[in-house]
Amino acid sequence: MNFIEEIIEEDLKNGKNDSRVHTRFPPEPNGYLHIGHAKSICLNFGLAKKYNGLCNLRFDDTNPTKEEVEYVDSIKEDIQWLGFQWAAEYYASDYFDQLYEWAEWMIERGLAYVDDSTQEEISRERGIPTKPGIESKYRNRNVEENMDLFRRMRAGEFPEGSRVLRAKADMASPNMHLRDPILYRILFAEHHRTGNKWCIYPMYDYAHGQSDSIEGITHSICTLEFEVHRPLYDWFCKVLEIHHPQQIEFARLNLNYTIMSKRKLLQLVTEKYVMGWDDPRMPTISGLRRRGYSPEAIRNFAETVGVAKRENIIDVSLLEFCAREHLNKVATRTMALLDPVKLIIDNYPENKTEWLQAVNNPEDPDAGVREIPFGKELYIERTDFKEDADKNFFRLTIDREVRLKYAYIIKCTHIVKNSEGHITEIHCTYDPETKSGMQTQRKVKATIHWISETFAKPAEIRLFERLFTVPEPDNTEEGKTFLDYLNPNSLTLVNGLIEKNITKENAAKYYQFERIGYFCIDKDSTEEKLVFNKTVGLKQ
Ligand code: ATP
Ligand code: MG
Repeated sequence: MNFIEEIIEEDLKNGKNDSRVHTRFPPEPNGYLHIGHAKSICLNFGLAKKYNGLCNLRFDDTNPTKEEVEYVDSIKEDIQWLGFQWAAEYYASDYFDQLYEWAEWMIERGLAYVDDSTQEEISRERGIPTKPGIESKYRNRNVEENMDLFRRMRAGEFPEGSRVLRAKADMASPNMHLRDPILYRILFAEHHRTGNKWCIYPMYDYAHGQSDSIEGITHSICTLEFEVHRPLYDWFCKVLEIHHPQQIEFARLNLNYTIMSKRKLLQLVTEKYVMGWDDPRMPTISGLRRRGYSPEAIRNFAETVGVAKRENIIDVSLLEFCAREHLNKVATRTMALLDPVKLIIDNYPENKTEWLQAVNNPEDPDAGVREIPFGKELYIERTDFKEDADKNFFRLTIDREVRLKYAYIIKCTHIVKNSEGHITEIHCTYDPETKSGMQTQRKVKATIHWISETFAKPAEIRLFERLFTVPEPDNTEEGKTFLDYLNPNSLTLVNGLIEKNITKENAAKYYQFERIGYFCIDKDSTEEKLVFNKTVGLKQ
């Protein structure tokens, strides 16, 4: 049981909130979700499920200049893909009227005032935590004047940046968030939901806690950086006399070799360092999906990481481990070659085809078998042959025997090279008495995979490495940015071969290219040319 579950169980025991559990996931629709959000999603939806409660999806859309419908749609798609369904879909903008009313309510009670100071003056007067701040000269405006100015702010009479509405909280508090926080700013921006209805917008801190309250959220789970905002959220609930959700903070998920700031991810997209938000190298949920990660793998990862109270950095290999673990159970096995070379079995009859049975998934008997053709001319992986093999190389070399998976034992007799010394053909003989399934005394040290020439079809295979060359690309030296640590080799395109029967329509969700790794078909595939992404290798 983690510390959040302990708090919830204590609350349930005490009958707090009528023993309800109601959580929410509150993204700002200003980018695509990433693996850190997945952690928060699994936590919030997971707790609701565990305690028979509800979890809302609420878009914290108080920043009209950065928010878009495209992001709203992608966020919904990603949450559902992860396997969760929200009890209700809300928007902070649904509460703009209520929030405005509360602002007037606070003005009436002398708890808010219109401040004409500049940004710089406001932050200078706020001062430093160890010394009380200086009160604004507008702080003691009377209620009538404040109300009049605030209404005129709303009516669009003043330019952007000329005035703000501030709470009259505590300019001496050691917590800077309580030093008369800004509630409203003037912004002549069109909002993706409210259009041009508003030209003043509530600040995130004024909207977030009250939105939780309006929805009757019982446990408002957020990341550690909001711990210092909690007294302010509590203060709003107290002065407005509204339901008080309990905020609980946990450490955000950090992953090495990547970045998780939406602003920086957006920069990678807009400046075209990657193919888009769903580039398979991105830490976004859509990127991981396109890369071939399964929702199960990501949920498992979130579970394994657990909930911590202190920041730490998780090794990306844990995520890869979770992917392998699940994909091993569900991936359809197939033969594919990243760097094919021709193999000819000289003593195999011309024009003969044998259909052999290949197992689709040894971990899943229900996955069945498929028939693949075997013939005189095949392709194998170039790296499975070595001309000058040392004693540690057990695969094919001249005069050595290996098994062709599902087929026969073959022995290499000679090779053919072109004028540049590049191997173009590997010649072998086969032993008809060694067909897979037959009793044979013969032992070989290696089994290699293959595709017969008639059954091979070209495909583009995309291999990925980490997007960054250093574990903490955010933690950069002086004068450098995360962009200086982009890995120039993070994407390699390979022209490989796959089994011919795979088409864009019938492709399995997840593949294991035997002996190579896990792969999935990419959306860039066409009828003519299939494209595959490497999810992760078979071994660490
Ligand atoms: P930004 O990158 O723009 O600062 P954000 O990552 O905080 O934004 P939000 O849309 O505000 O994005 O986040 C939605 C929810 O996801 C919040 O409750 C936030 O705490 C949580 N969240 C965001 N990043 C992480 C992370 N790395 N680990 C765990 N939870 C996270
Ligand atoms: Mg945020």
